[in-house]
Parts: sequence; structure tokens; C-alpha cells
Amino acid sequence: MLDVQQRASGCLFGLAFGDALGAATEFLDVATIIQRFGPKGPQDLSGNPARVTDDTQMTLAVGEALMQAERPYSLQSLEGPLRAAFIVWNESPENNRAPGITCINACNRLKQDIPWQEATVTRSKGCGANMRVAPVGLLPWGRDGVSEKSRAGIAQFQAALTHGHPTALAAADLTAHAIADLASGGDVAELPDRLKEYAHSQRFVYHEEWLGTLWQRAYVDSPEEFIARGWDECLNVLDRLDAALLHADRDADPCLQTGDGWIAEEAFATAMLCFLFYPDEPITAIQRAAVTKGDSDSIACLTGAFAGTYLGLSAWPSEWIQRIEYRERLAQLGALWDK
Ligand SMILES: [Mg+2]
Repeated sequence: MLDVQQRASGCLFGLAFGDALGAATEFLDVATIIQRFGPKGPQDLSGNPARVTDDTQMTLAVGEALMQAERPYSLQSLEGPLRAAFIVWNESPENNRAPGITCINACNRLKQDIPWQEATVTRSKGCGANMRVAPVGLLPWGRDGVSEKSRAGIAQFQAALTHGHPTALAAADLTAHAIADLASGGDVAELPDRLKEYAHSQRFVYHEEWLGTLWQRAYVDSPEEFIARGWDECLNVLDRLDAALLHADRDADPCLQTGDGWIAEEAFATAMLCFLFYPDEPITAIQRAAVTKGDSDSIACLTGAFAGTYLGLSAWPSEWIQRIEYRERLAQLGALWDK
């Protein structure tokens, strides 16, 4: 029987392991990856500490902002800590790991004390929106006012601070929902169906208490029309995920099946594909995710988050846990939500 204890720690460490493994392959095509690392790509984390990238750094920023904010969570309690954490990340000397340009530009504007709706990059749906959302999915239900609705609002809001496109919001919500589903013991066979059901149910739900007037910055007639655009793109990529799972070609580059992952809905789907190809082999799953032509570190980080949530901390080698960068901060956050 699987040991599924410490799912939150498993998620956060898995995310960091995927990020560290994919960091070496992010800007390489598959032929070059194989030439450099062998047919299965990088097999081990490199360095001590094994360095992660902006994906893990921003995940810690989101998680630590959630930790610091007053409860119950609201726009008023969360905006300050989240803005501050993003600005600190942006200005940190350790922010030198090929960060996304949208995050940098938005964080520079967030520092100017203008409304966040004016700071965000309204046309961006880059995967920066959801590569960092896992902590929101780990928030325990029923505590601190966390419900399915407030979790969705928080997931979309943390994305919206930098990425204002509706698909960035929907994909971040969907990613957090998948983490929450796995954290509550959801089985993997029916997971894609449950994700589609959730996406359909949210299609016209605009979280005004979190997003305010953001929708007015797009060329749409109503908040419902705005958010439906995002969910429709997510539903489209979920159909591609279904087709890829049916075809089950584990040897082909997953990016050819569900997308390169530079954009949020594709990062979600390609990461989910790698996880669902190997639900009980977490290391194989993140290795598969790293041998991709697209945004390998973000794909692998989400694959690691899904696998670690599903299997718990014991799924990962203890030697990796000792060696990964930011291990103390990851452990502190994980312990908070493993109780
Ligand atoms: Mg990165």
C-alpha cells in the first residue's frame, strides 16, 4: 500500500525536484538533451545544493504570503503580503534563474504602489501564473475560511497580480483544483473527467470579490464573457489531454501532444500528462517531463507537484530532500499544511 502521508511536503519537494531537473533542459530541443544527458535525459539532480529556478522561488513567495496573511483570507488580507513577497523575489540577488519577463515587468509595476489591475500584464497567459500556485491547492478546506470558492478566488488572484489574461486565471484555478483533488485522496483514473467537470462548472464564475474590475481591461461585454474565454481554452487543452492519454505514446515528446508549456494551460496539461503516464513512478514522471522541447522546468515542476501530492513525501529520495536548494523553507511550508 502506498504511503500517502505528508502530501503537502511531497508536493512542494516534488515541485522543486522537477524544477531542478528541468532547469538543465529548459532551452534545449530533445535531440540536444539526449546528446547531452543520454536517452532518458538527466537522471539525477546536479550540484549541492541542487539549484532550482524561478518556479520554486515564486511558489515559496506565494506560500509564505499565505502563511503571513491574516485569516480568514480576503483580498484585503492577502494583497499586501502577496505584493510584498513578489517584490522581494523580484529584487532578490537569487532572482537570476531565467525568470519570466511578464513576472519581472508586473513586479516592477507592483512596486509603484498603483492598483494591481494597472500593474498586471493583461495580455499574458504565461505559465508563471500557475507554476507557483500549488500552495493554494494545499490550503486545508474548512480552515481559515478556505472553501472551494475561496480557493478558486485565491488561485486566480495570485495569477492576476502578474498575468491578467483570463486563461492565466482559469489555468491557475484548474492547477490548484488538481492539487486539492489529489491532496484529498482523489484517484487518478477519473481525474481528467473530474477536471473537465470542474472547468465546465466554473465557466461563467467571475470572482469579483478578488478580481474587481479586471475584466474591464479586456475587450469583452461582461465579466462572464471574460472568464469563459479562459475556461474554454482550458477545456480545449483538457480534450487534448484526453486524446494523448488514449494514444498513450510515452516515448514521444509530451510537448507534441499537449503543447510546449510556455503558456499556462499547456504547462498544466503537459505536466498532467507526464504525471498520468507514470502515476506510481514519480521520478520517471519528472524525468519524462524534463526531456521536452518546451518549458521543461515549469512542466517538470508541476509534474513533480502532482506526483508528490498523490504519493506523499516518501515518494522522493531522501538524498534529494537533503540536497535541494531552499529545503528548509520548503519543509517549513509543507509542515504547516501536513498537520
Ligand atoms: Mg523557471
